[in-house]
Amino acid sequence: MSKQATPQTFSPDQLIDNHGREINYVRLSVTDRCNLRCSYCMPEKMKFLPRKEILSYEEMERLMTLLAGHGISKVRITGGEPFVRKGLMDFLFRLDAIPGITRIHITTNGVTTLPYIPQLKELGIAGINLSLDSLDRERFREITRRDNFDQVMASFHSFLDHGIRLKVNMVVMEAFNTDDIIPMALLSRDYPVDVRFIEEMPFNGLNAGKQQLRWHHRRIRDHLAAHFPTLTVLASEPYSTSTNYRIDGHAGTVGIIAGFSRTFCSTCNRIRITAQGKLQTCLYGDSRIDLKDILRSGVSDQEVMAVIAKAIGSRFADGWEAQKHNVQTSDVSKSMSLIGG
Ligand code: SAM
Ligand code: SF4
Repeated sequence: MSKQATPQTFSPDQLIDNHGREINYVRLSVTDRCNLRCSYCMPEKMKFLPRKEILSYEEMERLMTLLAGHGISKVRITGGEPFVRKGLMDFLFRLDAIPGITRIHITTNGVTTLPYIPQLKELGIAGINLSLDSLDRERFREITRRDNFDQVMASFHSFLDHGIRLKVNMVVMEAFNTDDIIPMALLSRDYPVDVRFIEEMPFNGLNAGKQQLRWHHRRIRDHLAAHFPTLTVLASEPYSTSTNYRIDGHAGTVGIIAGFSRTFCSTCNRIRITAQGKLQTCLYGDSRIDLKDILRSGVSDQEVMAVIAKAIGSRFADGWEAQKHNVQTSDVSKSMSLIGG
């Protein structure tokens, strides 16, 4: 339900949407390319975008500088796989130097991340989300269509050895990896990691919108509770998209992200910039604003910000509402690799 914005609680430069939600977080997709082919994300034969259709690092830096001047403090670098783009580390250090950007996070599949981990530590990375959908090598290969389990596990251990805050994201898929739910939860017993189970969303670049969700958040919770009787819900962190739980004796936590059921829209504090430079004010909505074209048309910073502020000022109340207004259907642009998750 719509409510009035409450600007008195924020600085005049702060971005606040038309439902009173403060926007302080950008998810920035730096590439649509990937070295894996996770079946829930993209088809095996994926047509990637020509380089000129992807935002340059300079363009991203300009956008982030503008946004940081309007209260954006947290950035998550995503993709595609961020580490397949050349020059990523240099870009991260430039991003870190932007006044106002206080927390840089990365979502990665961990396949080629290992050599960069010491530099990520040096950068002061705020946290890593490592995607890992199975602890079984063969099942990992079936899901990702690639044989890179060992590289991902090497990254997993190195993140922990470097004392980097680590979340492990597992997309729960009927008939693929539900046997992994308990072993994955046990990772949080043996290591100080936060394991997050994600409802599968219909963004696989193929039949978007046609899937039935078999493992919704309540079923995942009940499954966990049956195995871990001490599963106890934790107080929600502000803006969190996951419901988190502690289990007695576990070093880390477990959590569930209801990405399909969308239980988190009322506190949504984020916008997305896709690899193509599309501004997406809701994960479930079409991106209607092409920031790349706007940046390349030579307009001033004020004009760029005016476009962004206008889009934020007319957000849909939630993901269901946004989806109702979509004009695109099942095309490749609905692959998570473009949106960045
Ligand atoms: N390649 C990186 C990775 O996999 O971590 C970053 C990009 S990936 C698109 C970002 C996140 O989106 C990953 O955690 C991935 O599991 C999640 N994701 C992709 N497709 C999804 C889907 N159909 N449903 C739920 N989560 C999905
Ligand atoms: Fe690549 Fe990440 Fe998509 Fe898997 S989820 S195909 S790793 S972009």
